[in-house]
Amino acid sequence: LGEAAMALTPNDHGWNDMLGTAPGPRMNATFVTLARNSDVWDIARSIRQVEDRFNRRYNYDWVFLNDKPFDETFKKVTASLVSGKTHYGEIPHEHWSFPEHIDQDKAKKVREDMAQRKIIYGDSISYRHMCRFESGFFFRQELMMNYEWYWRVEPSIELFCDIHYDPFRYMAEHKKKYSFVLSLYEYVETIPTLWDSVKKFMKNYPEHIAEGNSMGFLSDDGGETYNKCHFWSNFEVGNLEWLRSKAYIDFFESLDQDGGFFYERWGDAPVHSIAAGLLLPKEEIHFFNDIAYYHVPFTHCPTGEQTRIDLRCHCNPKENFDWKGYSCTSRYFDINKLDKPQGYEEQE
Ligand code: GDP
Ligand code: MN
Repeated sequence: LGEAAMALTPNDHGWNDMLGTAPGPRMNATFVTLARNSDVWDIARSIRQVEDRFNRRYNYDWVFLNDKPFDETFKKVTASLVSGKTHYGEIPHEHWSFPEHIDQDKAKKVREDMAQRKIIYGDSISYRHMCRFESGFFFRQELMMNYEWYWRVEPSIELFCDIHYDPFRYMAEHKKKYSFVLSLYEYVETIPTLWDSVKKFMKNYPEHIAEGNSMGFLSDDGGETYNKCHFWSNFEVGNLEWLRSKAYIDFFESLDQDGGFFYERWGDAPVHSIAAGLLLPKEEIHFFNDIAYYHVPFTHCPTGEQTRIDLRCHCNPKENFDWKGYSCTSRYFDINKLDKPQGYEEQE
């Protein structure tokens, strides 16, 4: 190409026309990412994959949230990669700090103790703010109030298969409120009293507990103890109205009062999962078998060969985590009386 041709924008070469926008309606939905400025190149890789496998044909917006202002590099790089509109929000101090009722000395002793016991992120203050923010505040940030649906994306994830349909629309049309691709057992050291707190909530707010809920996914003894199963929340497609409902807010505030985000190291994954498991009828939680996904160190790769060929997947099915011993996904299939996908037997 000569100089003149090189000066043309990609669209002048017909590139944008080749991308092929998907027909049909769009949901009121956005991707959402919590990130630091230093995460820019890791989130760039995630966005590239989400765009290549899905969003280049759908052009959904993307909201970025940060406890500090985003810098110009972060904004420039991410805006150039996302095919929809990008929005950048700074989290208010109240949503990323210790609530007044927290005893700072007690919280500090816990961090020191967890550091000694080498519990992952056990000594970190920012990780705790992150978990509390994802549990109770991301869905009510000003920028998120405009949307009904969200899809959470973290840095350095991979998507291994094409997504041939709109997961937001699937959720809306099938009346789903929450979804997952990977599930596993939580480290008990991070949540020793979480279930006590949940039991207190159940006693104080029986009106919020759904009939036909997923207690069988969370507990092996009818609710007496927690079996530590949770959906891995670094991937989620979900309904924001549900998270903004009185039931969810009462749940979050009840847990927050008990202080375990700081006196222990409660993660947003068990918090979201227990909420979805108890506040929603079990049919409202969806497993996306056809969204092939990696977040260190686990992979969800469809076991059915035809699915992988049809969706041009590039994952190794041997790495699929779903039917291995440390996954809770077969429990989800059991309580919902679902047939396991083709090929699962080879993996047990
Ligand atoms: P892990 O997946 O549990 O190991 O935790 P990550 O380090 O991936 O953090 C989870 C999410 O929160 C990612 O999207 C991070 O970019 C984000 N995150 C973690 N810590 C901070 C923080 O201190 N500030 C901001 N703005 N984002 C954070
Ligand atoms: Mn992560």
